[in-house]
Amino acid sequence: MHKKLFIPGPVEVKNDVLQKMATPMIGHRTKEASKLQRDISEKMMKLFYTKNQVMLSTSSGSGLMEGAVRSCTRKRAAMFSVGAFGNRWYDMAVGNNVPADKFEVEWGNPTTPEQVDEVLATGKYDLITVTHNETSTGIMNPVGEIGKLLKEKYPDVVFCVDTVSSAAGAKIEVDEWGIDVCITSTQKALALPPGLAICTISEKAIEAAKQVENRGFYLDLLKLYEYIQKKDHQYPSTPSTPHMFALNYQLDRILEEGLENRFARHIEMAQYVRAWAKKHFELFPVEEYASNTLTNVKNTKGISVADLNKKLAMRGFMISNGYGKLKEKTFRIAHMGETTLLEIKELLENIEDILGL
Ligand SMILES: *Cc1c(COP(=O)(O)O)cnc(C)c1O
Repeated sequence: MHKKLFIPGPVEVKNDVLQKMATPMIGHRTKEASKLQRDISEKMMKLFYTKNQVMLSTSSGSGLMEGAVRSCTRKRAAMFSVGAFGNRWYDMAVGNNVPADKFEVEWGNPTTPEQVDEVLATGKYDLITVTHNETSTGIMNPVGEIGKLLKEKYPDVVFCVDTVSSAAGAKIEVDEWGIDVCITSTQKALALPPGLAICTISEKAIEAAKQVENRGFYLDLLKLYEYIQKKDHQYPSTPSTPHMFALNYQLDRILEEGLENRFARHIEMAQYVRAWAKKHFELFPVEEYASNTLTNVKNTKGISVADLNKKLAMRGFMISNGYGKLKEKTFRIAHMGETTLLEIKELLENIEDILGL
């Protein structure tokens, strides 16, 4: 039996979207391929409220995260971390010999503009990374406020944001917020199969990359950018055209639903799950910054999350255990992508039934 996924990626993919992956191949050096990239770009620009160039990478989101840090750090990077994915960005810097420092808060708390201000006031950093939606803790960071601070006080700092588990599930205004590299991947709120990463890139990030000598090869953001510019929206290496067909189609579906409607649906689901979590358990993250695409529930009843998931599996559902050190201490319910409130209610009723709540 297929288990309906309520995990924070991969998520359920609509059948008609899946079918687009089976579109007959096209040459990646054809006008059709150029048009496909242009169409996707135009739609992604709407989704991200930006005029910046959109670039795809046949990798998961981590690929472009690594590429951004390596390609755009001239001097030293500051990684603001509120959980496992924030830490990952720091590990990428270390692994690529990029000078960096990590500023991690206690899990369950956000990165605040005050913290960023304090760190940047040292003048040591020319790039920062922030996780918009930290999937390991269920925190949604105030990226807009941090962006405002950067615009006002640190206009030369390159602002990289991980929106892997929030893009298409929460409003992200790239230009308004001043995000230089905004990164996501397909298998979360965009509701596509895993395998493609997407980013927007600003002029400032491009200019920064031009000053960096060793940007790697496959994930060199400057190379990707210049290729798109010079070769009519094509890529240096062969992209996953099946993903591109599916993405182009799914973006039509998303725009048809209406961005505001889509974000409102996510908020409605989040509010419902949070209320449920508070009724039976507790929220793990500080509520003011709780995510709108997944809820991390503190396991105050000491249930076996693994056992709950086994029982849910028999009923055709799957949720996520706590991430890393939070295993069995929390459990996570994703409410992103094409998931509806009705499906969320059905899941929660089954959890209540299994646990006798
Ligand atoms: C899933 C996730 C990632 C990793 O993305 P991949 O596409 O698996 O590489 C990074 N950051 C966050 C916040 C995520 O949720």
